[in-house]
Amino acid sequence: MGGGRTIDAVGMGWDLHRLEAGRPLILCNIPIPFEKGLLGHSDADVALHAVTDALLGAAGLGDIGEKFPPDDPKWAGSDSGRLLRMVLADVGRAGFQAANVDVTIVAERPKLRSYKPQMRQRLSELLDLPAERVNIKAKTAEGVDAVGRGEAIAAYAIVGLAKKC
Ligand code: MG
Repeated sequence: MGGGRTIDAVGMGWDLHRLEAGRPLILCNIPIPFEKGLLGHSDADVALHAVTDALLGAAGLGDIGEKFPPDDPKWAGSDSGRLLRMVLADVGRAGFQAANVDVTIVAERPKLRSYKPQMRQRLSELLDLPAERVNIKAKTAEGVDAVGRGEAIAAYAIVGLAKKC
């Protein structure tokens, strides 16, 4: 699926979560061993939140905060992979399917290079896309700003949508 489709819409997403001791670190639905994790109402998977917002944006469906209000206890501790699948279903009902996704995760630590293949595979499963239509990039912030000081992790995503056949 997804190969060679005409892109009918694109969307972008951005997110940032604070790093805090005693929380699990989950990126693209993959648990990553680290001394800190991301703070948030859900599992705080900053990468999947960026992808979810990009999907919503491309389909003209608003943003993740409207869909899953952070003050609604229903979403506390949610698996962000489940939230993404719910949004993908909305995108499908709007007549679209994902065609490709490109994600940039900005983290000073831990080094994410060795986790990129797993993250790519998991994101391809979540989006019903072949792995070659999914790209994960890992960057640092060169020691500058809150991300560079290791206080937070940020993520950017761009998603292309194709009209459903
Ligand atoms: Mg978020």
